[in-house]
Parts: sequence; structure tokens; C-alpha cells
Amino acid sequence: MTELLYMTDCYKKEFDAKVVNVEEIDGRYFVELDKTAFYPKGGGQPNDRGKLISKDKEYAVINVIKKDGRVLHEVEGVPHLKIGDQVRGEIDWDRRYYFMRCHTAAHILSAVIHKETGAFITGNNISEDKVRIDFNLEEFDREKFKHYEDEVNRIIKEGHEVRLSLMPREEAFKIPDLVKLKKMLPESIKIIRVVTIDGVDVQACAGTHVKNTSEIKGIEIVKVENKGKNNRRAYFKVKQ
Ligand SMILES: [Zn+2]
Repeated sequence: MTELLYMTDCYKKEFDAKVVNVEEIDGRYFVELDKTAFYPKGGGQPNDRGKLISKDKEYAVINVIKKDGRVLHEVEGVPHLKIGDQVRGEIDWDRRYYFMRCHTAAHILSAVIHKETGAFITGNNISEDKVRIDFNLEEFDREKFKHYEDEVNRIIKEGHEVRLSLMPREEAFKIPDLVKLKKMLPESIKIIRVVTIDGVDVQACAGTHVKNTSEIKGIEIVKVENKGKNNRRAYFKVKQ
């Protein structure tokens, strides 16, 4: 199991780690470390990019994936690294910080839509230029999305603190907002990462988030789609 540094500190941009394994799969090279601050693709959030630096060489990290609890860093070219080598990891911070702002904004928009309509979010996807969220909503009123956008921007401006806590499964499910997840999260997950946006939202989530909603600056809902029975989709952008 790779130790995931972003679970407790989403602002870690650089770290030192030890090479645990180097794997070649179809001519692509994957480096496994004992710990990492690189976020592997998952939960609708894209992977980080950046570099791994050893004594005399630098390797571009072009993809990061999770496999059986291990995080694998795909590097460009053939890595001259062996088990036990020390490396320094550096994350492409502009890319990651943008995803942190998008991801936290998605929590706020989900909370606003849920509060106003009772709808639940069924999927989300962050990309390099916009964020998509899907939710189950029977009544569909495009006019209301301007109001949701205003509500999200009000919360962003108010500067709510965003807190992360790791807690045992049983303790997490005592939180009323998380009870609904009990059946969805496999028993094998013993420790749950709870993300609280003070006064706004509580979620179990392993993604990366900003510390204060004011960092998001603002959002704009750019498109709303009707995807058939009960299935709605909205796209938004975060302000530059
Ligand atoms: Zn999250």
C-alpha cells in the first residue's frame, strides 16, 4: 500500500520517497513509491502530472493510476531507477490547484442542488476546461440554475473553511449526512476521509480540495442538459 500524502495535506507540492518497484507494461514504465503526493485518476478527478527527480536524472510523470491500493507513476522514457533509490517528487501545481478549486466547487454545487431540490449527484467529471455533474431530478427548470449559480458564488465569497478528517468507518457513519453511504462503501474500507465544508456540506471523499471556499473565486454554469428520465447534467467553469 502506498502512503497517500494528499489524504491529510492537499497542499503538498514536493516530497521525498523511496522506489518500491518499477514495472514495465507494454513498453510503458510505472514507478511505485513508498509514499506519494501525486493524485491518481479517480472519483471524477484527473491524475496529477509532474516529475520524479533522482540523483542525476529527471523523469516526467505523464500519468498516475491506482492499482490494488498501490499508486503507479507512469514516466516518460525508460527510468534508470532501482528498488530502494531515493527520489524527489514535484507536482505540476497549477494543474492540481485548478482541480482542487473545481472539485471543491462541485461539492458546493451538489449541496446547493440537493438542498433546493432533494436531488442526489450520480456522477461527476472534472476536465481541463470545465466540470460536469449529473444528478437525478424529476422537475427540470433551466431558469433555476441561475439561482443555484448565485447561491454557490455566495458560499464561495463567504469564505467557509474546508476541513479533512480521517476516521474509523463506524465513527464516520454516525454522521447523519454519511449514513446513506454505508451500503455503498465496501467493508474493506476501514478508514474514511470525511470532507466538511463548514455550514455547507459533509461528504466522504478521497479527492483534493482547497482549504477555504474563497480560493475558488467563483463559478459560472455554462450548460444544462436534459439526459432523459430523472437524469440531468450541468457543466460549470471556475473563474480564472
Ligand atoms: Zn471531494
